[in-house]
Order: sequence, then C-alpha cells, then structure tokens
Amino acid sequence: QEAKRRQDFVFLYSEGLDEQYLRKLDILEHLKYAADEKELTLLLQPKIETQTGKTIGAEALLRWHNEKLGFVGPDEFIPLAEQSGLIKRLTEWVFKQSVSYLKRINAGGDFSLSINLSAIDLLSDEILSVIDELEREMPELNKHLILEVTESAIVSDPDAAIERLNWLRGKGYQVSIDDYGTGYSSLEQMRRLPVTELKIDRAFVQPLVSSVTDQSIVRSTIQLAHELGLKVVAEGVEDVESWNWLKNQNCDVLQGFYFSKPIPFDDFNERLQGESRD
Ligand code: C2E
Ligand code: MG
Ligand code: MG
Ligand code: MG
Repeated sequence: QEAKRRQDFVFLYSEGLDEQYLRKLDILEHLKYAADEKELTLLLQPKIETQTGKTIGAEALLRWHNEKLGFVGPDEFIPLAEQSGLIKRLTEWVFKQSVSYLKRINAGGDFSLSINLSAIDLLSDEILSVIDELEREMPELNKHLILEVTESAIVSDPDAAIERLNWLRGKGYQVSIDDYGTGYSSLEQMRRLPVTELKIDRAFVQPLVSSVTDQSIVRSTIQLAHELGLKVVAEGVEDVESWNWLKNQNCDVLQGFYFSKPIPFDDFNERLQGESRD
C-alpha cells in the first residue's frame, strides 16, 4: 500500500510540474504577439501629493488579456517575459503608450508618469534608442517620465546599472527605487545610486496603523531618504489613518487603493479634469 501511495505521489507530482511547464510555454507563445494583437492595456494608478491630496502623476501598470488564457497578471507574465527577453518588446510598447497618454493629458510642468523598468531593460541598448526616438516626438519627455527600478535589478550588476542610471539622470530623467526595503541594498549602495526618489514597499505601509515596528521602519526610511535628498513615495496606502500618519512624517507622495486602484486612461483623465475644476 505504501508503494502504491508513493506511486500516486510521483504521478501527481510530475503531473503538477507538467501543468506548470505547459502554462509557461502557453504564456510565452501568446505573449510574443500580445502587443501586435492589441491584447495589452496600460492602466494608470494616481500618485497623490501627501499634503494636498492632489493627483500629481501616475504609475503605468501593464495588463494583458488573451483570448485563450484570459487575464494574466503582471506578477505571472513579467517574470517570464524577463527570463525570455520578451520584456524588451513589452517595455517598448509601455514607453510608446505612455508618450501617447502624456500628449493627450497635455500635462503641466510637474505632472509625471512612472514606468517600471526591468534589469534587462536597464542594461540593454534597445532602451536607449527607444528613448531617443520618443524624445524626437516629445522633446520635453524627460520632465514627465520617472523610471522605476528595483533594488534587485541593480544588485545583479551594480556598476553597469549605475552607469545606465547616470546616463538617464544626465538626460534629465527622474529615477526611482521601487519596492524599497524588500531587496538587500546596503546603505553604502544607496549612497552611490544616482536616484531621485525612493518608493517604500507596501509590505511596510499596509500594516502601518497597527504595527509599531513598521512605523519605526517607515519613519526612519523617510528621514534617511530626505537626508540623501530623495523624494519619498509610500505605496499601498489603503486607509485615511495611514494617510494622516504619513502626512505627519512628511512623506512626499502616496499611492494606494485608498485613493484609487489602477484605472483606464479615460477614467484617469476625467479624474484630473475634475480636480482642476475644483
Ligand atoms: P509595482 O511596480 O511595485 O507596482 C505596484 C503594485 O502594487 C501594482 O500591482 C498595484 O496595483 C499594487 N498596489 C497599489 N496600491 C495598492 C494597495 O493599496 N494595496 C494593494 N494590495 N496593492 C496595491 P500590479 O499592477 O499587479 O503590478 C505588480 C508588479 O508587476 C509591479 O509592482 C511591477 O513590478 C510589475 N509590473 C507591472 N507593470 C509593469 C510593466 O509595465 N513593466 C514591468 N517591468 N513591470 C511591471
Ligand atoms: Mg513600480
Ligand atoms: Mg512597488
Ligand atoms: Mg513590485
């Protein structure tokens, strides 16, 4: 009986693996054509000025719907796109879409869209030509784009990453460290990084109201960032108590479901128009 059970286990186990493997293959096969087939959407999640509650920008977040696979979340398809190199094609699409949004918003001086860059994007040359091409279309692009990179994108090859970040900074782009606190960048590394913004990961922000430990972490992170001359964004703000707490700590910018989930362009634009009328 024991042998039988073991056999069943082996069978189920390998069946599970096959399923995962087939799903990956399926995703990669369809992801190749996602941009051409118009299966991608770029949602916008408002970024809010903490003191005023005003929308001062948005983070662009990718969504993918495929006829056969249905909705596939970015947490599932982005890592696969990174492993396969397909990410470069997706990022190029995100850049182009963001520029078309910026043109339609016709935004003033301090409005900016944040785009997520993967390590591969950051270190590849394709990104340079995409940016050069889009700058011909929109010369003031550098004033309206913030490029978000994670700590882990930098630790893979810090020297190369820093060189690229310097290139972007030299062209006048803002650079943000995303998911701050979940990687393992040292203070020494933070000091070397040519970035302008730090985004505290939502793992520390969501529990703020009830967790004294997270309060200490967030408070000292804001202080450190300000001392390094960085703007601080808190992501994952889900209630008004957290907003008030972060306001008291002088956190600069907020993002989270309390203000809005990621929404389609038209809804975002309507929100902006509504605010400028008040
Ligand atoms: P991220 O860059 O850290 O983006 C923030 C994520 O937190 C988004 O998830 C957003 O919907 C979610 N979020 C924002 N506020 C709240 C909140 O108050 N509560 C909760 N529970 N969640 C909140 P999303 O859109 O599912 O994206 C997940 C990740 O996928 C992103 O994390 C980013 O790493 C990646 N991603 C999304 N779009 C792109 C893209 O165009 N390019 C690249 N390279 N990565 C992307
Ligand atoms: Mg991000
Ligand atoms: Mg993040
Ligand atoms: Mg993330």
